[in-house]
Order: sequence, then C-alpha cells, then structure tokens
Amino acid sequence: MHDLNADLHSHSTVSDGTWTPQQLAERAKANGVALWALTDHDELAGQAEAAAAARELKLDYLAGVEISVTFADQTVHVVGLGIDPDDDALRAGLAHTRGSRNRRAKAIGEALAAVGIDGAYDGAGALADNPDMVTRTHFARWMVKTSVCRDLHDVFRNYLTRGKPGHVPEQWASLRNAVAWIVGAGGMAVIAHPARYKYSATEEWALFQQFKAEGGRGVEVLTASHSAADVSRYADTAREFDLLASRGSDFHAPGESRIELGALPPLPRGLTPVWSELQDRILRA
Ligand code: AMP
Ligand code: MN
Ligand code: MN
Ligand code: MN
Repeated sequence: MHDLNADLHSHSTVSDGTWTPQQLAERAKANGVALWALTDHDELAGQAEAAAAARELKLDYLAGVEISVTFADQTVHVVGLGIDPDDDALRAGLAHTRGSRNRRAKAIGEALAAVGIDGAYDGAGALADNPDMVTRTHFARWMVKTSVCRDLHDVFRNYLTRGKPGHVPEQWASLRNAVAWIVGAGGMAVIAHPARYKYSATEEWALFQQFKAEGGRGVEVLTASHSAADVSRYADTAREFDLLASRGSDFHAPGESRIELGALPPLPRGLTPVWSELQDRILRA
C-alpha cells in the first residue's frame, strides 16, 4: 500500500497539458502507474474520458481537480482527489473561478504588447484547446514558439511572474471555498507542491493551520518541482500537521515536465499515503 505507484497529479488538454485524457491514461499504464488521477486546473471536463480510459486499460482511477486559490496575496494550488465530478457546488465554484481567465488573458496580452511583444493573446489562445482555460502556460509556449524566449522557465522568470512586465495579478478562489467544494463533493483536499510558494515561515504556518481548520487532509510531499531537501521538509510538515502524504508528477507535456508519469520515488517511510483513506473513492478497474 505504502509503495503503490500512484500518480495523483497530472494535466490534459482540458487545462494546460498537451495530451488528451486518453493519451495520459495510456502513458500512465505503460509507465506502470497503479493508481492515477487527472487533476486539470479549475475544470472537470476531462473526467469522464479519463475514467473511461482508465477502466478500459485496467488502471485504478481517482477523479481529481487542481483549484487555483489566493491566500495571503499569493496563488496556492489545492488538489481535490476522489471528488464526484458531477457535484453541483463544486462545478459552480470552478465555473466561477474560470470566469476571470479570459479577461486576465487579454490583460496579459496588453501588458506584453506594452513591452513590444504583439499578438500574444491570439497566439496563446490558439494553443489552448479549451477557450475558457487560457493559462500562463499557453502564453509561455507561444513565447517559446515565437522565439521570444528559449524555454518555459525563461518566460516565467522574465515575463510572467510578480514584478515582471507580463504579470497580471489575479484573485482566485478562497482557501475556505476551495476546501469546502472538494469536501462537499466527497473528496480529499491536498496542498499542491508546497515548496513553490514564496511565503514567510509565519505565512506558511498560517496556510497549513487554516487548511487543516477548514477540513484539508493532505500535502504533496513528492512532486516534480521538489528537491530532496523539499521532500524531507514537507515530510516533516505532514507529521507536524498530521496530514496524509501525496505523490504526483504534475505532468503537463513530454519534453516540458521534469518527471514522467509514474516516475517519482516512493514516499518517505513513516508517512501515511493519501490513498490509504481514499479506498472507497477509487474507481476500480
Ligand atoms: P495560471 O493558472 O494561468 O497562472 O498558470 C499557472 C501554470 O503555469 C502552472 O500550473 C504551471 O503549469 C505553469 N507554471 C508556473 N510557473 C512555471 C515555471 N516557472 N515554469 C514552467 N511552468 C510554470
Ligand atoms: Mn499547469
Ligand atoms: Mn499547480
Ligand atoms: Mn498541476
């Protein structure tokens, strides 16, 4: 159970991945994943295809989502696992969260035009399969494609993050609402890739404290963006806050993602995996 090859964080063309749910399911199976979750940003439109593909491939599946949240002036991602994708309150909350994306994408396009980069809004839009989900990833891919930058990292570092010319701040869902939507839909809320946030120690403590108080249960200890030091640090956080530990590659696209589906190491000893408490939410192959 502890060493199950679970990959509980991945993205399809429904958000900012480049593979369809079907293609992801096939790759997960080929890579030896035993339990998979598709967790598109703020969108459930890939869930039916993912579940059907997983069933066909005899791959256990958890319905998932990654919700964009604003906490203490920064964006935090909260993954929901084992949710009911047909839950009305969750669907309405996500629709509202997605609602500001088009306006924001236009603003990013205008901000980039102001520094001499024209056509970004149309360019990013053309790369997005889902017109409601134009993300910074699509802008970044377009800026690499048009040779403005060398790679995605370069784009984020120089254009799309705080203090940079193409950065447009956004107010996403509240932590309270995101956790309530997930829990209300029968799922488990998990803090995604905690090492990526730039919080002070006090702010980070407040994040985990409030997350627990609202009903959050898990933290991603293993994810592609975590160094070995990050893994041991957030293993400690899991113990300190009595959180279950999750494992997910955050796979977006071949050649872009640092880690393949199912290629993460096992969870550190002594942690309880999230899947130990999601057994009745797993869609068994
Ligand atoms: P958005 O929700 O539109 O703000 O876009 C956020 C997405 O951008 C994340 O889910 C990542 O896929 C991607 N992203 C953020 N920072 C980076 C980075 N430094 N390098 C590559 N991708 C990133
Ligand atoms: Mn993403
Ligand atoms: Mn994320
Ligand atoms: Mn993600």
